[in-house]
Amino acid sequence: MPMKTPQEYIDSLRKLNLVVYMFGKKLDNVVDDPIIRPSLNAVAMTYSLAMSKKYEDIMTATSHLTGKKINRFTHIHQSVDDLVRKSKMGRLLGSITGCCFQRCVGMDALNALSITTYDIDAKYKTEYNKRFLKYLEYVQENDLVCDGAMTDPKGDRSLPPHQQEDPDLFLRVVEERKDGIVVRGAKAHQTGAVNSHEVIVMPTITMREEDRDYAISFAVPSDTKGITYIMGRQSCDTRKLEKGTIDRGNFVFGGHEALIVFDNVFVPWERVFMFREHDFSGQLVEQFASYHRQSYACKVGVGDVLIGATQTVAEYNGAAKASHVRDKIIEMNQLNETLYCGCIACASEGRREPSGTYYVDTLLANVHKQNVTRFPYEIARLAQDIAGGIMVTCPSEDDLKSPEVGKWVSKYFHTVKSVPVEHRIRILRLIENLTMGSAAVGYLTESMHGAGSPQAQRIMIARLVDMKEKQKTAKKIAGIVE
Ligand code: SF4
Ligand code: FE
Repeated sequence: MPMKTPQEYIDSLRKLNLVVYMFGKKLDNVVDDPIIRPSLNAVAMTYSLAMSKKYEDIMTATSHLTGKKINRFTHIHQSVDDLVRKSKMGRLLGSITGCCFQRCVGMDALNALSITTYDIDAKYKTEYNKRFLKYLEYVQENDLVCDGAMTDPKGDRSLPPHQQEDPDLFLRVVEERKDGIVVRGAKAHQTGAVNSHEVIVMPTITMREEDRDYAISFAVPSDTKGITYIMGRQSCDTRKLEKGTIDRGNFVFGGHEALIVFDNVFVPWERVFMFREHDFSGQLVEQFASYHRQSYACKVGVGDVLIGATQTVAEYNGAAKASHVRDKIIEMNQLNETLYCGCIACASEGRREPSGTYYVDTLLANVHKQNVTRFPYEIARLAQDIAGGIMVTCPSEDDLKSPEVGKWVSKYFHTVKSVPVEHRIRILRLIENLTMGSAAVGYLTESMHGAGSPQAQRIMIARLVDMKEKQKTAKKIAGIVE
């Protein structure tokens, strides 16, 4: 059965033997940990929506390997239509979870590798693509979540990998054996790491000849010996430990990031997809990054939630009809739909690569992600403007329910007659969660730095625009003959 139910996904995670540390302690039970669980719930939604008839077209696809129906997150894009559906899937899931649902990194790694392994083979007569397709079939048949691990810690940014004082600051091969390789290093900020069955490692920058030991790509099961996960903190993360649901804003879903340490991890040859072909490292980085920049369709969906919350709080406050409030909400929608234009456009302008995989338009994917580094901040600013200061000064759920002071909280935070105070506080907490709480990691900081920081996209935009052609037409129109 190539598609898992959400329950089967959760059960499959229970079987993993992950080494996870959080707050200095090793976790005995990752799946039920209250801080991690909301992130698992968000990934589980990628399974449950794929079961639904309503979303079948968006959430599922037909495997080009087996012809079976599979979850789109394990699919290799076979057409422009597939790319467009991928963007729609991102918005859909963002709008249902209100957070980062983590599974795109693996999908983007699989698609980038489907192209790069093919191209390496064409040049060097290697067998990476054959290995990769066998691995892909395993991922599709078992409906797995893959962590697409690209970002190395990078140490001193002015030095290349081999010149770092500590050579492990970029992940590298430390031993070559007959049956495989041994790797050491780490991947930082790994989205959804402990909710994944597999980790797919890729280089983080273009490598030169001297850095060929760092030009490697491979996949390992997430509980492979030698791998340790150290969970990242999120703003307001300990609110997830609270019994009540109000102050958590979004008490069902969330995201997570972790540092993954590879301490002499063995990788068999059949799972190695690039080995010292440094001249293809840049291509793999660029293709993964461009696919992942497209994936930031997710933020449009999260934006939908934030706009919905903002309109609601405006109504609860009795301010929805004020012309400046209406105008601000129009502005939020215009910004959010502009983001949608970008992720649909880079998909619609996609093209077929020699491997058969469809690849996004790189320039438009980079422009889209560059917009994502800005517009959600503006949308968040407008949401906070309309929500008012009470978003951060509101007393706790316990105070609202207190036999002593609850009556005062209810009395003095009451607004429109028909609106229960609890509803008002709930929606304010959701805006707080999205713009400065744990979900702001996903909606704001991830928008800034995920899939590469803003400057990475600007470099690509500068490289990809055809400036000569623009000048040529301008000069022609102006009547300049050189
Ligand atoms: Fe997917 Fe968006 Fe999360 Fe990246 S930030 S993993 S694109 S949901
Ligand atoms: Fe990301």
